Amino acid sequence: MRSISILGATGSIGSSTLDLIRRNRADWRVVALTANCQARELAALAREFGAELAVVADESCLGELREALSGSGIEAAGGRTALVEAASREVDLTVAAIVGCAGLAPVMAAVERGGTIALANKEALVSAGEVLTAAVERHGATLLPTDSEHNAIFQCLAGNDISDVRSITLTASGGPLRTVADLSTVTPEQAVAHPNWDMGAKISVDSATMMNKGLELIEAYHLFPVGLDRLKIVVHPQSVIHSMVEYRDGSTLAQLGPSDMRVPIASCLAWPARMDTPCEPLDLPALSELTFFAPDEDRFPATRLAREALKAGGAAPAVLNAANEIAVAAFLARQIPFSRIAAMVAETLARGNMPPAPRSLEEVLQVDAATRARASEILELA
Ligand code: NAD
Ligand code: MG
Repeated sequence: MRSISILGATGSIGSSTLDLIRRNRADWRVVALTANCQARELAALAREFGAELAVVADESCLGELREALSGSGIEAAGGRTALVEAASREVDLTVAAIVGCAGLAPVMAAVERGGTIALANKEALVSAGEVLTAAVERHGATLLPTDSEHNAIFQCLAGNDISDVRSITLTASGGPLRTVADLSTVTPEQAVAHPNWDMGAKISVDSATMMNKGLELIEAYHLFPVGLDRLKIVVHPQSVIHSMVEYRDGSTLAQLGPSDMRVPIASCLAWPARMDTPCEPLDLPALSELTFFAPDEDRFPATRLAREALKAGGAAPAVLNAANEIAVAAFLARQIPFSRIAAMVAETLARGNMPPAPRSLEEVLQVDAATRARASEILELA
């Protein structure tokens, strides 16, 4: 039996993880489950899985959580410090499935205890790149990439020498708007209606703007040190090939699978072994064809912005991420049109002096907070 904590247990990745655990209850002891606020849903999960601890990051929801857990013997806690404390409890595997830079401090806590972390929370790695990877090294922690593309690359690299890699290609579905002619009238409902994947609202909008692929480019840069020039992006609308690795002898290894996050999550849960999932196997004759296109960075500039942020270095990726979080929230709240999202990120990156490269978690969080304030100002001025 292995122990597990799930940060962001009520979300899309959290639910898919718990679905797999539910099917293999005898294999797992659930230690901590966390959510932002969804107290009743979290309490129900904590009771179902016999968790030791349930944490709401938003302290104002703690009363409701306590009430929903009364008589269960399950510990309830609330607030950012409690979230970090939960992440620092000893477990065999931490699933990092909080959305946004809000997940960074708990990920860092799991890293600092030298844990094994199934990392879905890409924004943590984008914001804190060097700081987080250095901490992983220093504390002997293990990051298991859970994002489907990075999990695919991780699988294609297994057993091979990274110095033999000629290039890594991230596949992108192109999102729900790839073939939509007029991007100026896109509504939040259209943007979150992903053709292949069922995901949380923020990453769905990121897929529509292609910022998701931009964030994933930065994520890949830190996870797989082959250099930015060897990282490519190709649009592959069927989302069957989840990414590929080309070796110097001309061999390209690809990982294929259904568009179901339970496949990469299962790969992390069972790593380095394998486990059963209920996912539909691929039906290649039914698919009949796989197609590939170069990304259109004139219509979807986000991947270019991400590449430029990586090249600029320093705090630029953290600034890009924070500006994007503010812009996506504003779009979902119907405060800005779809096309303003990437424009706001570009403006925030261009405005003022770029802070130097953060050297600690605190400095990353300072850049994040300052950028949020700056992006909110840009929003109000518009
Ligand atoms: P989601 O919105 O469905 O769930 C997010 C979870 O985080 C919820 O449990 C929520 O309560 C919690 N949360 C939200 N804000 C918080 C805060 N401020 N503090 C603490 N907890 C907070 O998101 P998701 O789609 O499951 O995505 C989670 C992460 O995984 C994201 O970083 C996303 O990019 C990544 N990811 C998701 C998918 C997918 O298929 N959903 C695929 C690849 C990567
Ligand atoms: Mg992905």
